[in-house]
Amino acid sequence: MFSSLRVRLPLLFLAGILLAGLITTLIAIQLFREFAHDETLSQVRREANGISLLYADAIREDFDASQKNSRSAPTFAAARLRETTGDRIYYVGNPPFPGEKSGLPTLGQKIDWVSGKSLTFEFTPPGAQKAYYAAGSPVLFHGRAVGMIVVAKPKTDVNARVFSLVWRLAVAGLLGLIVAGLLAFYLSRRLVRPVLALSRAADEVAGGNYAVAVPDGGAGEIGHLTERFGEMAAKLAEAETRERNFLMSVSHELRTPLTAIRGHVAAIADGVVEDPDAQAHSLAIVAAEAARLERLVGDILDLAKLDAHRFTVLREEVDMEQLVGRAYETFSEQARERGIALQLEVRAAPVIVSDGDRVLQIVDNFLSNAFKATPDGGRIDLALSQTNGSVTVAVEDTGPGIKPELRERLFRPFVSGGGGTGLGLTISRELSTALGGRIDLDTELGKGSRFALVLPA
Ligand code: ADP
Repeated sequence: MFSSLRVRLPLLFLAGILLAGLITTLIAIQLFREFAHDETLSQVRREANGISLLYADAIREDFDASQKNSRSAPTFAAARLRETTGDRIYYVGNPPFPGEKSGLPTLGQKIDWVSGKSLTFEFTPPGAQKAYYAAGSPVLFHGRAVGMIVVAKPKTDVNARVFSLVWRLAVAGLLGLIVAGLLAFYLSRRLVRPVLALSRAADEVAGGNYAVAVPDGGAGEIGHLTERFGEMAAKLAEAETRERNFLMSVSHELRTPLTAIRGHVAAIADGVVEDPDAQAHSLAIVAAEAARLERLVGDILDLAKLDAHRFTVLREEVDMEQLVGRAYETFSEQARERGIALQLEVRAAPVIVSDGDRVLQIVDNFLSNAFKATPDGGRIDLALSQTNGSVTVAVEDTGPGIKPELRERLFRPFVSGGGGTGLGLTISRELSTALGGRIDLDTELGKGSRFALVLPA
């Protein structure tokens, strides 16, 4: 279950958010603790200042008026402060009036009040269990410190404030987490949906169904992946169709001569053909069809090797002038018989490193096609030339030219204008590629065609 993107993504989102929330909360708590600590100290400092001023005023008035009953002011203020804030007020130092009590509890701890400087400290008052933050402020009489007022606040007050903050943060965090979780779930579903659809489509393709509807992946990386996946599935479908067509064509091509051979052999065996001339004719057909079969099987084998890149080309010195001369010789007799003007034009005599037999095979194929296309009394030009870096052998005929729709498919296996196997040009092109060259074709309906083999010099 945890290996599924659908589960992993939202969990990952949530874990990230949780971690970020936790770190932020810890930092916030630490900052708040420091702030609350400073705030509490400055509060007790202010309170101590206020009470010590009141106390000093009361002492002064007593001295001035020699009335001892006005001492109630500071003790009254201290009592109210204690009542409202829960803070403790202490007096440290000499009695304000000789023989008189301060009216405030004394601090059971020695602190430096003589220097007359304000101070802050932490302590545990006598009889108390908790620690207190405290601030002391001097009581000044005629510029001299006579004692000190100390205001103390329990540390637990600060902790309680921090705890209340943590509690609120926890509630807010929980709410945030629920919202973030829902959002993460929604977003990851949106993100994962096209991936899942693509994965289902891939399953279909793996199962052999190439006509699968590829989902729309939108823009971005997933969209790009989806688009390419669709193209890939289409190409696979095309390849499968091509393979099926190829097999069908091969079996058809093989069966045609076989049917002819079987027919003639059966006719002779059954004594249907008894006339020696007719028998000789039948045998000639059988021989021709057998030769055709042999050629066909050889071509298919060549094609299969070329397809599998298991075709080995020789690298030898090839005298191109000699090579086109041989091709010319092969066809000159046929040209003479049919009154076709076969012209050989050698504009350069390059020697290249290539596979001579394969080059000759291609040129022979061009010439054979040209002779098939050219009517008796026509003209065929065989030309050898060299231009910077490449050698060209061109065969130009005065045949009918090639229709655009056939031209498109001409180099595919078993595409034939009629009569042939439709493998010649396919093999020629594969061979030319294996030799590092290419085939160029110019053709014009009613005028003729020019097939040119271009090889690296
Ligand atoms: P095949 O000659 O066995 O049919 P190819 O692959 O050599 O196979 O040729 C395929 C088809 O291309 C031919 O059947 C023919 O229709 C057309 N073709 C090839 N060369 C020429 C040409 N010079 N002029 C007109 N058509 C041509």
